Amino acid sequence: MFNLQALLRPHILGLTPYSSARDEYTGKEGVFLDANENPLGSTTSTGEYNRYPDPHQWAIKQRLAPIKGVRPEQIFLGNGSDEPIDLLVRATCRPGHDNILIMPPTYGMYEVSAAINDVNVIKVPLTPDFQVDVEAVLAAVTPETKLIWLCSPNNPSGNLLQAEAIRAILEAAQQSLVIVDEAYIDFADTTSWTSELDNYTNLVVLQTFSKAWGLAALRLGMCFASEELIRVMNKIKPPYNISAPTQSLALEALAHESAKNAMVAQILAERQTLAENLRSLPSVQRIHPSDANFLLVQFTDAQATFEHLIEQQVIVRDRSRVKLCDGCLRITVGTRDENERLLAVLRHMSSSPVSAELPLGTGDVATKPELVSNS
Ligand SMILES: *Cc1c(COP(=O)(O)O)cnc(C)c1O
Repeated sequence: MFNLQALLRPHILGLTPYSSARDEYTGKEGVFLDANENPLGSTTSTGEYNRYPDPHQWAIKQRLAPIKGVRPEQIFLGNGSDEPIDLLVRATCRPGHDNILIMPPTYGMYEVSAAINDVNVIKVPLTPDFQVDVEAVLAAVTPETKLIWLCSPNNPSGNLLQAEAIRAILEAAQQSLVIVDEAYIDFADTTSWTSELDNYTNLVVLQTFSKAWGLAALRLGMCFASEELIRVMNKIKPPYNISAPTQSLALEALAHESAKNAMVAQILAERQTLAENLRSLPSVQRIHPSDANFLLVQFTDAQATFEHLIEQQVIVRDRSRVKLCDGCLRITVGTRDENERLLAVLRHMSSSPVSAELPLGTGDVATKPELVSNS
């Protein structure tokens, strides 16, 4: 039987959280002289930001809960997914003692977050077709394994992990939290693991407003789990972790779910077109099947292709030195214009190996390649 209390670091269990002014008086009307705010207004030309935001983001959770089929008390909202990733490590892992388990190739933040907290990382690679090796995972789990990270659809491979494998791990790993990162779930033709939250108290599901919802700049991540775990995360989060502008814009976004769905449909159609066009290029060896908004593509010479693309101001992600991703670049599905620009540069490269300037298209091009980000 899963027992959250046994999993948490003992001092977290006994912790008295900071009690904010907005926690102690939750009424909306009154003369607010409790939080040392500026009563006169803000120094911005638009908007009023002089009051602290709702520390528990109730308006968003109440609108989000029915969309996700969960109770508001099963939702934690973070400053990006980065925040719940870090909080889960800090709530459960004793530095220098406990460990987390990841399945490379996968999202880089799980390992970084563990490293920041001086927490060991057990790595059990995915199989060559990017699926979970259930037996190997269960054999690698130790009594100190607090978190098992699954990413489905997986970044950087793009595929969904098999549901039976995830279920087997949820059922067998009763002394760990099993986290399913569903950052790309909107692009996949499947149901979310949120529907299983009441069946598995060790299940945690992560989603984000950064991808399908088109709100990466707001920094808003969703975490769904048992009410008991959400209470613990609320206890250790920074009190006002989601800003007021982020909260109001997220509320507005949730009223336009159909706009998100329309963008997803368009991106999926572009993904199909892009994959078909890439397939016809001689430099493309393999396109991995994708349930996400990107393609993992193997090239005959990934390094030269990557560098040529950069020279032409088309920026993709070089994953060629990542486990099981030999020779692969990860390509985000862009607009029709952006994808055509990418294809034009690739076609031009195949026909003339010496790099020559192509005239820039009219589509947006990045001016500064970002080579060190984690996403
Ligand atoms: C992009 C991405 C996220 C989202 O991170 P945010 O901090 O919410 O922007 C989470 N997990 C994976 C696997 C991702 O690729």
